[in-house]
Amino acid sequence: MPNADEMLAIAASRRDQLAAPGLEPRPRRNVAVLACMDTRIDLFPMLGLERGDAHIIRNAGGLATDDAIRSLSVSQRLLGTQEIVVVMHDDCGLHQASEDAFATALAADGVLPTWRLGAFDDVEATLGHSLARLRSSPELPVRDRVRGFVFDPETGALREVDPAAE
Ligand SMILES: [Zn+2]
Repeated sequence: MPNADEMLAIAASRRDQLAAPGLEPRPRRNVAVLACMDTRIDLFPMLGLERGDAHIIRNAGGLATDDAIRSLSVSQRLLGTQEIVVVMHDDCGLHQASEDAFATALAADGVLPTWRLGAFDDVEATLGHSLARLRSSPELPVRDRVRGFVFDPETGALREVDPAAE
């Protein structure tokens, strides 16, 4: 457990700054962010967020998977968010990964998952598909405020992708 013990100790030493007495669980800015789990994406400074402002949902790729939609549905229906921002990035681990090789490796371990890896060749097209899926998901009562950004970890630039503009 090279990390877990250290993490527990750090949390104990920072208890006062971690406590959030009186902070509401409903996101103050009524927004949910769906982003890739990539280590280089630091969403709070990137998007100007503070604790309590937003729901943060992360997965491999920042893809609008069934489970991401489950979380976004909870975010909107139970906790009042009304806007979705999706953040993907250049140099993603899923970019040009092999869907077939991954499935073969899982099958070799006796697993036939119901989900796909989500490998992609074109980050902007993939983000466009996610935005289109979110905008057409009845699980989400508010679907007209869905925006998508791509982060470049080399330069720090964040650019918008809008399939409606293509
Ligand atoms: Zn990624």
